[in-house]
Amino acid sequence: MSNDDLVLVINSGSSSIKYQLLDPETGAVAASGLVERIGEREGAVEHRAGDRTVRRTEPIADHKAGLQLVFDIFAETGHDLAGAGVRAVGHRVVHGGEVFYEPTLITDDVVEEISKLSDLAPLHNPANVTGIESTRELLPGVPQVAVFDTAFFHGLPEAARTYAIDAKIAAAHSIRRYGFHGTSHEYVSGRVAEVLDRDPNTLRQVVFHLGNGASASAIRGGQPIDTSMGLTPLEGLVMGTRGGDIDPGIIGHLVRSAHFDADRIEELLNRNSGIKGLSGVNDFRELQRLIDAGDDAARLAYDVYIHRLRRYLGAYMIELGGVDAITFTAGVGENSAQVRADALAGLSGFGIEVDPARNNAADRAARLISPPGAPVAVLVVPTNEELAIARAARQVVSPSSGGVRRQHRMTGTKRVEHARADGGDMP
Ligand code: ADP
Repeated sequence: MSNDDLVLVINSGSSSIKYQLLDPETGAVAASGLVERIGEREGAVEHRAGDRTVRRTEPIADHKAGLQLVFDIFAETGHDLAGAGVRAVGHRVVHGGEVFYEPTLITDDVVEEISKLSDLAPLHNPANVTGIESTRELLPGVPQVAVFDTAFFHGLPEAARTYAIDAKIAAAHSIRRYGFHGTSHEYVSGRVAEVLDRDPNTLRQVVFHLGNGASASAIRGGQPIDTSMGLTPLEGLVMGTRGGDIDPGIIGHLVRSAHFDADRIEELLNRNSGIKGLSGVNDFRELQRLIDAGDDAARLAYDVYIHRLRRYLGAYMIELGGVDAITFTAGVGENSAQVRADALAGLSGFGIEVDPARNNAADRAARLISPPGAPVAVLVVPTNEELAIARAARQVVSPSSGGVRRQHRMTGTKRVEHARADGGDMP
């Protein structure tokens, strides 16, 4: 693998940066790592390249310092990114608002627009912008591409994307369902068609992305018709620290009765709700240990989690007019056979069954877990947002490259086909 073929993918959080250097053609990962605790007294980098792992702990003042450290380690481990260059950098950007719905070549104007969208995603977009600005300074000659978590859901049907509140207020404040985890839902639903060897246009799919954040989507013919996250990534399923759907009246009640302000409410809903709010832990493996030890609160948290999953499944099956494939992905979805079995228990009347041996197999590959010949295919498909971002980035910087056709098949989308290198559809 020469550096020329590789794309660096960056996912920048408020105090962390996840990165991967990979070949968008084959998916082979040359190196990957994580910078943590940026701005704290002692930061940390863990960098893996082949068999080699490099760990550093030292103060990391800001994102630029973190990336500089990462690029130094890259150079020491055989990838001189600044010198030899990489094909492109792909940045995960959480909120594209109404403005961005294609992978977009980053220019000064694009950075400014992403920054303006921070009102819609105050926890995410500012960190994404910091990561982009730092990378542009450190790798000035390398084209950079923003890939938006909301993009896949941009074209949701009007009835699915509209909140039934005063239409003028909604319009004035850009309030609509945007949806998140779009890169994952798009990639995974494309993989489902490949695994089943079916034309994606003929499939009605429900995809559950169950990680720390969790979301569900209903996809018909490769296009989403509904998704559980909304204006922000708070709506929908129960998550590690977010509760998903709640009665919005709870907010007014807390303001009046407990004198909560907006920050306090956001902290409650983002950090102290969901599995953590109910059980005290947010990691699913710890939750399982508590349940095994007879902890009633943990049991309830699990039951609420499964109850919500099933409610969305039922809704999406009706919206789709039936379902051909149900797929689980991300940390919990890929690893918890128990969640998969409980989410779909007792649904054989709908053609939905999980084969216990297939479900419990310690297989890491994309696979079927329904019994042979079952009317509804149930699958586990590992998500790979980095690969999807790398492919989108490469497509933007070299639209006529040989990998284009393969990319369409892999992502199962026409969205990438329209990716533009001119800064996207800016109003
Ligand atoms: P993120 O949203 O941060 O990308 P991940 O997709 O990595 O999250 O998912 C993290 C979640 O996956 C955690 O709750 C973790 O407990 C859960 N998880 C990871 N491995 C397992 C496992 N073997 N069994 C059950 N849950 C798991």
